[in-house]
Amino acid sequence: MNLPFNDPSKIVEADRAHVWHHLIQHKPFETVDPRILVEGKGMRVWDITGKEHIDALSGGVWTVNVGYGRERIADAVRDQLVKFNFFGGVLGTIPGAQFAERLIEKMPGLSRVYYANSGSEANEKAFKMVRQISHRVHGGKKGKILYRHRDYHGTTIACLSAGGQDERNAEYGPFTPGFVRVPHCLEYRAHELGLEPGPGFGEAAANQIEEVILREGPDTIGALCLEPVTAGGGLITPPDGYWERVQEICRQYDILLHIDEVVCGLGRIGTWFGYQKYGVQPDIVTMAKGVASGYAAISCCVTTEDVFEKFKDDTDRLGYFRDISTFGGCTAGPTAALENMAIIEDENLLDNSATMGAYLHERLTDLMDKHSMIGDVRGEGLFRGAELVTDRETREPLPEKQVGAIVADCMAQGAIIGATNRSVPGKNNTLCLSPALIATKDDIDEIVT
Ligand code: PLP
Repeated sequence: MNLPFNDPSKIVEADRAHVWHHLIQHKPFETVDPRILVEGKGMRVWDITGKEHIDALSGGVWTVNVGYGRERIADAVRDQLVKFNFFGGVLGTIPGAQFAERLIEKMPGLSRVYYANSGSEANEKAFKMVRQISHRVHGGKKGKILYRHRDYHGTTIACLSAGGQDERNAEYGPFTPGFVRVPHCLEYRAHELGLEPGPGFGEAAANQIEEVILREGPDTIGALCLEPVTAGGGLITPPDGYWERVQEICRQYDILLHIDEVVCGLGRIGTWFGYQKYGVQPDIVTMAKGVASGYAAISCCVTTEDVFEKFKDDTDRLGYFRDISTFGGCTAGPTAALENMAIIEDENLLDNSATMGAYLHERLTDLMDKHSMIGDVRGEGLFRGAELVTDRETREPLPEKQVGAIVADCMAQGAIIGATNRSVPGKNNTLCLSPALIATKDDIDEIVT
């Protein structure tokens, strides 16, 4: 690795003095150097000390689906930016039109793509659409949005209002009214829901959503927003029968189904989108991270034509979606996204995600014989988690400090892994592995070892 500067310590000091890092406590930086990354290639990154790491988190937050150092994406973005970089989304651009068309080819039943920059922003767009539909179609009465305990939809106040993770929400209230929580569907913790695990659990968990709908009044609820597989809430895969029942409930009560594919989208769980694995048909889909694998900032809120039609009333001055995202007009995003999608196709990465994901699951499950602290292994595709407990009988979560020490130990040994479950402060006990979709058996063996 060639460092592009002479004195690494100056960079470390500049970071320590001036960068406010996301999502971490800064106190330890008083004695420990912040880690600065310099270079990436494929599955690997190098830090400023020259140390090599295998990245089992795809950029820390499940984003770099096609891996690091993709010249094909960088070249396309450079060429596009030199030709034409930006115009606010009221006018179109060539990559904007092309990527929307390619995306919709992958999403039968949906037809419109609204561009923004981050997952939070895409979800905000969706919430605004639901609220405006309530006003335009239902006299303002059907504007409540249901969200699920342990799901996460972003960092803004409206997204936190739809946030099912109490650690993320604590101290940021008051929140926006009109968001209503439904229970999670984690079978390993079925007892928390007053349900029995096993056959019938999925349907029973979905029926708990119906109970909330009936309590609130179906005529007051505009949408249900769910992750296909709950990511940061502890890698929760939906139990059998859950999604079928969820779809049925939404249709029965005329509730729009908004699926947050910010993490699962673009192959993370072995299909283009997570909902396609579970055979459901959403009305609104939001996506971000893997859309351009972190080579440019882009997110999309994709809807059916039926949703879009509600905003085409030219007899009313307010009859359109009165929303904008300045950088939703940047051409770098859709240009990178087009190449990213082409790479996934050319290299058959959906299949690789499914097969290597199954292999990773097998390897993690084998570890259960050796380590009694692994209580549950779960996930789909290359998105897998191991919930750590002090005792398999009681399922008491392993204390967060011990989980943190395991993550730090892996880091010291050159593997970047994560721990998740922000649903309860201090119970962050699920190890998370989400390597790039290019991962090979050797990469997985190395990570698990
Ligand atoms: N939705 C889900 C499921 C997420 O996991 C995240 C971020 O981790 C978001 C939305 C928010 O995305 P962003 O951080 O790009 O705003």
